[in-house]
Amino acid sequence: MPKALLLENIHPFAAQSLRAHGFEVETLKGALGEDELIDALQGVDLLGIRSKTTVSRAVIDACPQLTAVGCFCIGTNQVDLEYAGKNGVAVFNAPYSNTRSVVELVICDIICLLRRIPAHTHHMKHGMWDKSAAGSHEVRGKTLGIIGYGNIGSQLSVLAEALGMRVVFYDIEEKLAMGNAHRCETLDELLEQADAVSIHVDGRKENTGFFGEEQFAHMKPGAIFINLSRGFVADLDALKRHLDSGHVSGAAVDVFPVEPKKSGDPFETALADEDNMILTPHIGGSTLEAQEAIGHFVAQRLEDYWFKGSTMLSVNLPQITLSDLPGTARIAHLHANLPGVLAHVNRVLGEENINIAAQALGTQGELGYVVTDVAQNPSAEALALLEGIEGTIGMRVIS
Ligand code: NAD
Repeated sequence: MPKALLLENIHPFAAQSLRAHGFEVETLKGALGEDELIDALQGVDLLGIRSKTTVSRAVIDACPQLTAVGCFCIGTNQVDLEYAGKNGVAVFNAPYSNTRSVVELVICDIICLLRRIPAHTHHMKHGMWDKSAAGSHEVRGKTLGIIGYGNIGSQLSVLAEALGMRVVFYDIEEKLAMGNAHRCETLDELLEQADAVSIHVDGRKENTGFFGEEQFAHMKPGAIFINLSRGFVADLDALKRHLDSGHVSGAAVDVFPVEPKKSGDPFETALADEDNMILTPHIGGSTLEAQEAIGHFVAQRLEDYWFKGSTMLSVNLPQITLSDLPGTARIAHLHANLPGVLAHVNRVLGEENINIAAQALGTQGELGYVVTDVAQNPSAEALALLEGIEGTIGMRVIS
C-alpha cells in the first residue's frame, strides 16, 4: 500500500481523498524539523506540507522513496525545487485556489478605507460620535490602479468593475485586459490616476523594495494604498511618512517584511497608530473555502501524478497532461534533457518487441520527461535497459 504523510493541518479532504485512492495516510497537525521529517518520511511516497516545512537537499537525499511533494499553499520556496526535480521528486502547489479570497478582502479594504471605517470604528470604541462625511467616498466612479495583473490582479479587475470602478493596471508582462480595464505603459502613468493603488506582484527577488518613497510620492494626493502581495515589496516606513503627512489617506497591509512564525506570536508595527489603517495578519487567502479548495486541488495533482504520471501544473518537472491509463502499462521516464534520450527509449522498446500505443514528451530546462503507453507489460530486462539509459533520473511503471 503506498504511503502519504500530511503535515501542518492540511484540510481533511486531502487525507480522505488519498485514502479513498488506496493510500495509507498519516496526518500531523504541525510542521517537522529536518531530522524529524527525515525519520517520518522513511517508507513514504507522497508528502503534503504547507509553508512551515522545509524540504531541503538533505531531506531529498535521505528519502529515496519520496515521489512527490504537494505544497497545500501557493508558495513553494520551502522546497528545494531544482534539487527535487533532478532527483525525480515532483512538486505541486495550488496557485489559484485562494485567489477569490484575496480579491474579496481587497474589495473589502477598498470600501472600508474609502469610507474611513477604521477611523470611525476607532472613534466609536473611544466614545466619540462623529457623523461627518468628510473624507468618505463611494467606490463607484473611482479609479483602481492594479499593479501586477496576474491571477489575483485580473480577478480583482473584474470584481472592481462590477462595483462601478474604473480599472487601470500595470504589469511588466503583456497581459490581456479584462472588461474595460486600461493597461498603463508605466507605473507612473498608473500612480498619477489611481484613487486606490493595490499591489499584486509576485515574489521574485527583484521586487524587493519595489514600492518605496518615490512611488508613494507619485500617488495622487488622498489616494489609498493596499498591499496583499508580499511583505518585502513595499517600504512601510515610507508608507507611514505619507500617511502621517496626509498624502496617502488610508492603507491596508496584510503582508509584512518580517512575520511571526505562528499564530499567537507577538507582532508589532509602526503603522498601528495610523488613523485610517487596516492591518491584517497575512490572511488574504485564509478562508475555509480556500483551504478546502486547496485540499481538493493538490490532492488531485498528487493522485494524477501517482496514478497517471501526469505532471500538469507541477512547479519543477516538464508539464505533461495525460489521460487515463490505456489498459496495459505506462512507462514514465524522467531524465536529464540530453540529445538522444527519446530515441534511446524507443530503440530499447523496439528491440524488446514492445509496441508503443502512445507517447508524450516534455522538456523544461535541464529535465526531460517522456511517458510511453505500451501495448504489453515490459519485461524486467526491458525495464533494466530503460533504467540504464544515460541521463535517467527515475522511472515509474504505472499499470
Ligand atoms: P501571479 O504570478 O499570477 O501574478 C503576478 C503578476 O505580477 C504577474 O503578471 C507578473 O508579471 C506581475 N509582476 C511581477 N513583478 C512586477 C512588477 N515589478 N511590476 C508589475 N508587474 C509585476 O501571482 P498571483 O497569484 O496573482 O499572486 C500575486 C501576489 O499575491 C503574490 O505575491 C502572492 O504571493 C500574493 N498572495 C498573497 C496572499 C495573501 O494571503 N495575502 C494569498 C495569495 C497570494
